[in-house]
Amino acid sequence: MAEPAALVDLRSDTVTRPTAGMRRAMADAEVGDDVYAEDPTVRALEERTAALFGHEAALFVPSGTMGNQIGMRLVCEPGQEVLCDADAHVVTYEMGAAAAIFGISTRTVVSDRGRLDADALIAQVRPKGDWHLTATAAIAVENTHNRGFGRVQPLAELEKLWRWSRDAGVAVHLDGARIWNAHVASGVGLDTYGRLADTASVCFSKGLGTPVGSVLVGSAERIATARLWRKRLGGGMRQVGVLAAACLYALEHHLPRLGEDHEHARLLAAKLGVDPASVETNMVVLDDVNAPVLAEAAKAQGVLVSQVSPTRVRLVTHLDVDATGIDRAAAVLTELLAR
Ligand SMILES: *Cc1c(COP(=O)(O)O)cnc(C)c1O
Repeated sequence: MAEPAALVDLRSDTVTRPTAGMRRAMADAEVGDDVYAEDPTVRALEERTAALFGHEAALFVPSGTMGNQIGMRLVCEPGQEVLCDADAHVVTYEMGAAAAIFGISTRTVVSDRGRLDADALIAQVRPKGDWHLTATAAIAVENTHNRGFGRVQPLAELEKLWRWSRDAGVAVHLDGARIWNAHVASGVGLDTYGRLADTASVCFSKGLGTPVGSVLVGSAERIATARLWRKRLGGGMRQVGVLAAACLYALEHHLPRLGEDHEHARLLAAKLGVDPASVETNMVVLDDVNAPVLAEAAKAQGVLVSQVSPTRVRLVTHLDVDATGIDRAAAVLTELLAR
């Protein structure tokens, strides 16, 4: 009997499984107790990531959510606000953590599918020291933008916001869960992106394909405080060099191949009649579809997609989907869309 074809899982780039090489690196990792800051592999990852982004220090955290929330807390006091776009991950998918845990208020500005508009954000900033107004302590920026379907933020907008923020005394936090994809797509250096933020959280468990792990970067002083917050939140982990080893492996082996995912996404778009120019990184959007029906029918044929709204479906390419998988997904979806 023929083997059933493998599932093509395009729901998210979080679904990847560690490769054989990554598992070997994990098995061979030198470890210690990271709450004592004695895990050499975690320290190596932190130093390497800080250097990549041009920051003094870094902290390994279990998730991007923890990285973002601690990052925002470092630049915003309880009773102050963080300003961001209305579709930002930090206010959409992080369970109200800023308010629930830190007493941080958030205010949002509607954007064009997540595109950073520095002027629109700046116009909403409220000054510190006013007797009536909630002070805007920080602005959070997301790059690439998740709900903006992998949009890469324009460097000119990031620079404009940064320059303004220095004079205004407002901090910038970067949600860089997929900053790797932005870097590969735009050619802008990770250090350039890093230097345009006071704090940045970057994920290894998305396109880079590790089972877990994010790193928060910032000044040495801020990261020392972040270490306290991590412990307070229950994120102090022990011999996690096994996880950091996966992240170091991913920097070496998976970062250089991210462009393949972008190529696959453009290919998939072209096959599905979506303008490939609308695909900036590793996500393709199908609009005006019956999302539940399409998703169910595709699943029955071994292709998993994610429903972002009743009429919109998202396809995300990653390490575990090769050209054959893209062809299969395209064939299945083309047939279903023609029905
Ligand atoms: C995935 C993601 C995060 C972090 O998610 P975790 O599941 O907590 O690791 C943060 N921001 C964006 C834009 C993301 O896509």
